Amino acid sequence: MKVLVAVKRVVDYNVKVRVKSDGSGVDIASVKMSINPFDEIAIEEAVRLKEAGAATEVIAVSCGIAACNETLRTALAMGADRAILIESNEELQPLAVAKLLKAVVDKEAPQLIILGKQAIDDDSNQTGQMLAALAGMPQATFASGIELSEGKATVKREVDGGAETLSLDLPAVVTTDLRLNEPRYVTLPNIMKAKKKPLTTLTPAELGVDAAPRLTTIKVAEPPKRSAGVMVPDVAALVAKLKSEAKVL
Ligand code: AMP
Repeated sequence: MKVLVAVKRVVDYNVKVRVKSDGSGVDIASVKMSINPFDEIAIEEAVRLKEAGAATEVIAVSCGIAACNETLRTALAMGADRAILIESNEELQPLAVAKLLKAVVDKEAPQLIILGKQAIDDDSNQTGQMLAALAGMPQATFASGIELSEGKATVKREVDGGAETLSLDLPAVVTTDLRLNEPRYVTLPNIMKAKKKPLTTLTPAELGVDAAPRLTTIKVAEPPKRSAGVMVPDVAALVAKLKSEAKVL
């Protein structure tokens, strides 16, 4: 059983991005890029399913510029068997990525497709849901547990006020939440091994997909600066301020 995992190259979560002076976006020139953390969890889960004998092959897919190869090599070093780069220099928005992934799903016929619940750069939280709709597959988002047996996936997901367990017929789309697992560290020998694993490059045109952007960003702005806090001498002063300024009492 094949598992397909979507991995996005994003600005590393430790980097504090700056808005460009013309407000057209954030400046990502020469900042550290990494695999999207939720996608790292997705790869870890797929590799664990393979190690447990529930999956036979793990395929990592990334859509974007040639440098996404590095992200794919990380996925291969974590244990994916092969990788596919869908190379494009255009800005790829969630609908375009979902269409590209759907084209790969049609070619590869995986039984399970795992994505992150969201990419930490655009925070869209759309691609998995769009892919499930385009592919006509059941979906379970924000997974905190996945079990496979007899053509079904049992997925635990965290919902407001508790946990929900869903049963999905395979093939299905699942998106990962933080609590699903703790991804392994990539070791040097595995990084070396990953260099020899197959990595295929395709283009949107080869997959017959129009990946042109549909949304225009009008403006990106820094959040307003928070004003400095005030030290109060005692509880009475705090209560007086809560009454007079914050008006919460
Ligand atoms: P988003 O809908 O943009 O928040 O992304 C949700 C998930 O879709 C990510 O965690 C990835 O698994 C996948 N994804 C989004 N963009 C890409 C991309 N360019 N290449 C590969 N996977 C992607």
